Formats: sequence, C-alpha cells, structure tokens
Amino acid sequence: MKDGPPHVAMLATPGMGHLIPLAELAKRLAARHGATATLLTFASTASATQRAFLASLPPCVSNETLPPVDLSDLPHDALIETLMSEECARSLPALANILAEMRRTTRLMAFVTDFFGIDAFDIARDAGMVGRRCLFFPGSLHALTLMLHLPELVVSVPGEFRDLAEPVRLPGCVPIPGPDVISPLQDRSSPAYSLMVHLAERFLESDAILVNSFDAAEPEVAAVLRQPKPGRPPVYHIGPLILTSSDNSTSHASDTAPQPPRAACLEWLDRQPARSVIFVSFGSGGALPAEQMRELALGLELSGQHFLWVVRSPSDDGSLSGNYYDSESKKDPFAYLPEGFVERTKDVGLLLPSWAPQIEVLVHEATGGFLTHCGWNSTLESLVHGVPMVAWPLYAEQRLNAVMLSEGVGAAIRLPEMKEKKTIAAAVRELMAGEGKGAAVRAKVAELKKAAAEGLREGGAATTALDEVVKNWVGEN
Ligand code: UDP
Repeated sequence: MKDGPPHVAMLATPGMGHLIPLAELAKRLAARHGATATLLTFASTASATQRAFLASLPPCVSNETLPPVDLSDLPHDALIETLMSEECARSLPALANILAEMRRTTRLMAFVTDFFGIDAFDIARDAGMVGRRCLFFPGSLHALTLMLHLPELVVSVPGEFRDLAEPVRLPGCVPIPGPDVISPLQDRSSPAYSLMVHLAERFLESDAILVNSFDAAEPEVAAVLRQPKPGRPPVYHIGPLILTSSDNSTSHASDTAPQPPRAACLEWLDRQPARSVIFVSFGSGGALPAEQMRELALGLELSGQHFLWVVRSPSDDGSLSGNYYDSESKKDPFAYLPEGFVERTKDVGLLLPSWAPQIEVLVHEATGGFLTHCGWNSTLESLVHGVPMVAWPLYAEQRLNAVMLSEGVGAAIRLPEMKEKKTIAAAVRELMAGEGKGAAVRAKVAELKKAAAEGLREGGAATTALDEVVKNWVGEN
C-alpha cells in the first residue's frame, strides 16, 4: 500500500457545468474523507474562465489537462455532445498513461467521470478500478431517469420525440412533452442521437451513479431511484453540490492570500432594495438569437423591475449553445440591444458582458428572482439560495429541467414558447411581486432552500449517501 491520502481521478468533459460540481465533489471528499483528487480536463476548454476557476481550487484538488487532440475532421456543425465525446475518445491513450502513473504514485481509490467520458471506463478498469468506476451525473433525477430508460424508449417510441402527441411518461417523473425531451435526442439521424444512446447503454456498467440532486426537488422520482433495481447500478443522491461562494470560509487553503477586489456588480446590488432585482443569465454557454435579445431587453424594461443581466453577443451561427466552449462574447454584446435601452434603464438595470460572479449575485439579499436557462447548476444554485426562477430553457436538457421546475415541484414560472416583451414582462412581474403563481413559487423555493441545507448537514441524506459511496470504495481497496 502506498503512503499518502486516498486519491480520486475525476474526468471532467468540457463545460463549466461539468467541472464546477465535480470540483465541489472533490472538495467534499477532501474535507470529509481526507482524500485528494485530480481533475482531468480537456485542452479545448482551457479558457480564461476555466483557468481562473481551476487556479482558485485548494491544493487537495489538482488539475491535469489532457494533451490537445485534432478534431478538425469533424463537420463544422457537429453538436457539442459529439465534440465532447470525440475529444474524450481521442484522448483515451493519454488518459491511460495518466491513470497508470497515478496508480503507481498515489493510493488511487476511485475513478469518477461525468457521462460524456463514460468510454473511459475501459481504461479505468485496466488501471485497477474494478468496482470503483463511478458515473457522476451532473443533472436532475428526471434527466437521469430519461437516460436510464433511453435504450427501451428507442424501441418503443415511433419516429421523433418532438412529434409525439402524448408526453413521455417515466416512473416518478412529471410527464415530459416530446419537444422537451433533451435536445440531442430530437433527431434520430444525428450522430449526437446515436451517441446519447451509446452512453445510456454504458450507464449500466457504472459501479455507482452519483447524481447531483436532492429528494425534495424531485420527490416522486427520488423515491423510485432509491429503490434498488436488479441490473441497474445503485443511485446515490449526493446533491446539491454547487460552487461555494468565495465569501464562504470553507473554501480555500489560500485564505491568507489577498482577496481580489469585490466585483462592481455586487457594489451595485448593495445599493438596490432587498429582493428587488431579477438576475438574468443563460449559463456559461447560452446565447440568444439577436431578435430574442431585443425582446428580452424590452420585456425587462416593461416589467419595471430592477435587473442585472449578463449580456452575451449572439453566436455567429445563431445557435443557442454558440458560446459553450468559451463564454467570452466574441462581439460587443451591447451593440445588439434596442436603441436607447441602456440610457433609459440606467437607474434600474445593470448589464454585464459575458460573465457574472453568479453565486455571489444569488446570495445577495437584493436578488429576488433569476431568469435562467435552467442549466442544472444554475437551478441548484438558485434553489440553495432560495431564489425563485423564470424558466427560459435553450438547449441540452434545459427544457426538461424547465418542465420539472414549472410543472413538477413548482419552483419556476416557465415562459411560453413565443418569447415576446409582454409575456416576458408579465412573467418577471409575477415572479417578483405577484400574489398568485408568483407567491406560490416564492414559498416553494423557500421550502426547498431549507431542504437542500438539511441534506448536506451531518447525518443529512446527501452526506450519508456520499459516506456510503466512500465506504464501498474503501471496502474494495
Ligand atoms: N456561471 C457563472 N457566471 C456566469 C455564468 C455561469 O458563475 O456568468 C456559472 C454558474 O454559477 C454555474 C455554471 O457557471 O455554476 C453554469 O452551469 P449550468 O449547469 O447552469 O449551465 P451551463 O453553463 O452548463 O449551460
């Protein structure tokens, strides 16, 4: 047995939405179980945002970037799901060397990957991780259930999901209208569709599935997944794992280092009344088409509410995920706003290009609502901080999250398909101050905030679940 703490190798496929919760898992494993971890990341996403994030992690969580691979032969319109898994597939030889070295030099305890990296299971087995290859699912229990049932849905659903007359009904889940099934599954002829089916089939090879959700957010499906099922790996609800605020003293070993200056948007929030501001953001990669950006601007203005909006320029190809690999706007995002908008709203609104310190914004007492793309991390961050949501989903599994939030637990008001300034303004006003649906959503979110905190306490459901996972790893060691 080698000296040193137990070590976990974690493969994070591109996207801050994968990296952030895996890093939080690593921090929890360190704090509670004395483990160290290496986050294995890909060269394609070595953006400034990602580098800054990795540099902020404590020393018990290290990073190794896999060498770049050539993806230039892929079609220029390949979906992000295809890009991610191709990059992973082509990085497997390098990954094998890294894991072999880790096995030689550390007490390698387990291999954890998010689901686009699941093909690395073969390599992890060769590195001795039999019984300790875990899938980290960074989405909801609804999305996980959809993936677990995908192999049978492929057979039972005729044609395309988006054409289904009846919603998809899965055990414990809110009925899912066909168009809200995750976006890469909407076109059977696309390589991304086959890829998702391939990944779903491999889910069953995991020794455990760690899912970043909690029971109160999705109670019925949580009860179903807690029941052991022959042939399906055990599912551990270890969430909500979200980025810890930099205000939070649990964070870093670099606590003694000088802190960066507080962001100007937080100073702006300090000057706004309590719960008066709606925060508007579409995650790390979301981009609106130019005409929807315009409607959003006019809708916010019409709502009369205070707002803090992370404005990103539309992607070159008009896709909703155009900034996935780098959240920096490529053009001046303010150039796409309606004429005179900035001047007219300067007393109630603040615009930020590309990126906001989202956690600090959600924690701030001036923030009373979140107009979100329903990325799962943003959703959890909103729930943990008790911020009710307006749902404007864009791509990936965001529409499914919006169904679960609005039709299921009741933590969001979903915007209609046609996004016009009047409907946007009405939804924002209802969320912030309405006495009907808005009040119910605000009350529900307050309840979920408490439940999320409970689960992460000593003896709470998430803490107990992670303890059990580690016990199994150690038992297998
Ligand atoms: N994020 C942030 N500032 C931004 C946009 C995003 O800090 O301006 C963080 C956000 O807090 C979340 C992650 O990036 O932790 C985005 O993950 P999510 O799953 O919500 O969406 P994705 O980016 O994967 O679409």
